[in-house]
Amino acid sequence: MTGNMNLKLVFFTFIAFCAASFGQDNSKFKVVLDAGHGGKDYGAIYHGFIEKNIALNVALKVGKILEKDNSVDVIFTRKTDVFIELDERPNIANRAKANVFVSIHCNGETKKTAFGTETFIIGATKSASNLEVAKTENNVIHLEKDKVKYDGFDPDSPESIIGIAIQQEAYRDQSIDLASRVEEIFTDEVKRKKRGVKQAPFWVLHKTAMPSILIELGFLSYKPEGDYLNSDAGQDELAKAIAKAILGYKKEYFIPIGSTVNYKEPEVTKDTKNKTEEKTTVAATSSSASSKGVVFKVQIAASGKSLELVPSNFKGLKNLSKDDSTSVIKYYYGQTDDYEEAKQLLAEARDKGFPTAFIVPFKDGKRIKIEEALKK
Ligand SMILES: [Zn+2]
Repeated sequence: MTGNMNLKLVFFTFIAFCAASFGQDNSKFKVVLDAGHGGKDYGAIYHGFIEKNIALNVALKVGKILEKDNSVDVIFTRKTDVFIELDERPNIANRAKANVFVSIHCNGETKKTAFGTETFIIGATKSASNLEVAKTENNVIHLEKDKVKYDGFDPDSPESIIGIAIQQEAYRDQSIDLASRVEEIFTDEVKRKKRGVKQAPFWVLHKTAMPSILIELGFLSYKPEGDYLNSDAGQDELAKAIAKAILGYKKEYFIPIGSTVNYKEPEVTKDTKNKTEEKTTVAATSSSASSKGVVFKVQIAASGKSLELVPSNFKGLKNLSKDDSTSVIKYYYGQTDDYEEAKQLLAEARDKGFPTAFIVPFKDGKRIKIEEALKK
């Protein structure tokens, strides 16, 4: 098992890092909406409230809102009351090369007193209640005939995913950002009780190759909240909030590459002359020459692995830098104080095979939001 696990680590790190796809349509922001459970898998049932129905209704409502925006492509893992194997959900998202994966669920607990929303990303946890949520959501594997693909994973001890969850590491910050937006809007605009952004080992989140979250809308076990979640008006409000969070995230991270950006073939330079330059690490925290103090870089990858900043490690891209101040090291391409030029760099990075690359602005060496960077 250990040997097998090591192999897997390497494999997942590799695909997380590459995530390459040439010739894909980068003009649309692709959202996968995953309504939890379905068919013979009812999910949580309390007071006659059924999770699979509520999750589906909310997912469909979110989709309806998002589909009004023609820069968004919505992909549903299910649109009707059908059973989908847990494994197939991330597969759908990966095949679609989605920009985000959003799984929608409802909570439940035996004491029937807890209430509020919580939004999860994948990760290890010591919290018994977080683990319990993951266990309940992973439980569907027990209903499936072919358990071979789960590779010995025991849904009753979800901690075992963590060893193979390396891939999501690359999307950790973005997943947290999306999850935080959901929780904030739920609280500020829909007046739900915020239990916050949490992490736990969910099977459905560990295989996706994009930022991924799992939303627990609330507790069906707490009757007043169950009533709200089961109501059309409640579902409308929650769906609006989720759609708003996704669109806010899109604004921050997604720039469609259209005809306005002219891709220039990178100059071929003499290898020997540039070798030392290429290796120079320009840390994200480095001071900038910009008068406004805002510098744009293109984040092309993030990984727990430290990689040498040479073009051969980054599909031939040069002018690389990294930020290794956290456990997940971020790798950047280019540096400019001109946003239009940054978009050009982004186009180059995508063209080179980093489809999920995005622009990151820094001010005085600190990462800031795009909106803030463009305010001036
Ligand atoms: Zn669920």
